[in-house]
Amino acid sequence: MKILNARVLDLAADTATGPVTVEIDDGVITAVGAAAAPAGPGDLDAAGRFVLPGLVNSHEHLSLKGCLLDPDGDQYYDVYRAPAEQQLLQCARSLLLSLSRGITTVRDAGAAWSVNLPARAAVRNGVLPGPRVFTCGQVLSIPFEGEQVKTAGMTVDAAGVPGVVDAVAELVKQGVDFIKLKGHRRDFSDPNRNNYFTAEEIITAGQEARRHGLKFALHAWHCHVVAPALAAGVVDSIEHGNPLHEQPELIARMAADGVIFVPNAISWAPRPEARWSRYPDMAGIALEKVWDSVRLAIERGVTLAAGTDLHCDQLHTELQAYVELGLTTTEALKTATVNGARLVGMQDELGAVEAGKLADLVVLDGDPRQDLTLLATPWQVIARGVVHDGAELRRLVATRP
Ligand SMILES: [Zn+2]
Repeated sequence: MKILNARVLDLAADTATGPVTVEIDDGVITAVGAAAAPAGPGDLDAAGRFVLPGLVNSHEHLSLKGCLLDPDGDQYYDVYRAPAEQQLLQCARSLLLSLSRGITTVRDAGAAWSVNLPARAAVRNGVLPGPRVFTCGQVLSIPFEGEQVKTAGMTVDAAGVPGVVDAVAELVKQGVDFIKLKGHRRDFSDPNRNNYFTAEEIITAGQEARRHGLKFALHAWHCHVVAPALAAGVVDSIEHGNPLHEQPELIARMAADGVIFVPNAISWAPRPEARWSRYPDMAGIALEKVWDSVRLAIERGVTLAAGTDLHCDQLHTELQAYVELGLTTTEALKTATVNGARLVGMQDELGAVEAGKLADLVVLDGDPRQDLTLLATPWQVIARGVVHDGAELRRLVATRP
C-alpha cells in the first residue's frame, strides 16, 4: 500500500519533507519519495498530513492502564489484586487504547502474574490488534512482609545473591524481554519502612540479565540504589530516578555511559492535582522533587525515553512536561520515538520514516512540532503494517458516554 501526499517528519534533521509517497509492503517501508504511481485500492491520500514514526511508550503497565485515574475507582493494591483474568482483559483494552493514541510500541514495566506475557503473545499471533509489546513480565523485588503487597502477585521476590540469580533465570524462562528490578520496597500498611536490595544483589541482577542477553532496568527512588549499578556498568535504564539531582555525578555518569532515563514525569508530577496524591503514603519518597531530576538530566544531555506509568494515560502530556523542563518539541518527540526504539533494542528497525524500517507510523492532521496535542488524535495509525483509522479506534475505546 501507499500513503500519498504525505509530509514526512524527519526528527533527526528537524525538517518536514514532501509531499511524498510512502510505500509499504508486508509491514516494511520500501520507499519514500516522489509519487511513482496513482492511488490504488487500499492506498491512503494523506492530503498534506504529517507522517512520523509510531510512538513508543517506554514505561507502561497494560494491566493497569487508566485503572487509577478515576478518583472514585479502585485503590492501588485493589487493582493489583484483581483476578488475573480480569487484568488480562484490561491488557486487551489497553492495547487498543494505546493504538488509538498513536502508540505502536509498548514497553510494559511489570504486571501481576505476568499477564503482560499472554497479551504480548496475542498481538504477535494476530489474536488482537495492538502495538508491539516488550515486557519484563513481573518486577523483581526484595521481599516485604507487609500485608498488601503480599496478597497481590505483583512481583517475583528474591533475597541474597543466589536468590537473585534464580529469580532472573526464572524470568528468562518465562520469556521476558528485559529484567526490571525494583530497588526498594514499601507497603502502605507500613509506610515508614523501605526494604532495599543490597548493592551486591543489584549488580548481580544486572550481570545476570546481561549474561542472558537482556537489558537491565532499575526502578529507583533513591540515589544509593542507582550508584552501585552505574558504577558496575550493568544498567541500561533508570526508571523514575528521583532524586538524582541530589547527586549530579550520577546524572553525569548516565550521560557519559548512555544510560537512558525514563522518569514518568507526569505520572509523578509534583502538583497537587497529580493522581498519586490519592496515596499520601507515597509522598515519603520525596516525590515533590521529581521534576528537579528531569530538569538536570536534560541540562546534562541524558537520553530520555517517555513513559506514562500508572497515573497518566496520554503520552503527549509527558512530552509537554519535557518541553517545560528544557527540551525542544523535536527533542521531546524523539523521546517517544527514536529513544524508545533504542531502549527496546529496535533502533535499526523503528524510529524513522525511511526505506527499510518497519511500517509503524502515525499520520497526524498537523505538525506535532507546533502542537504536541495532535498526538492524541491521530488520523491514521499503522501498526505492524496494519492500517487503523484513528476515529474508528477512538470510537472502539469509548466505553463511557
Ligand atoms: Zn511503573
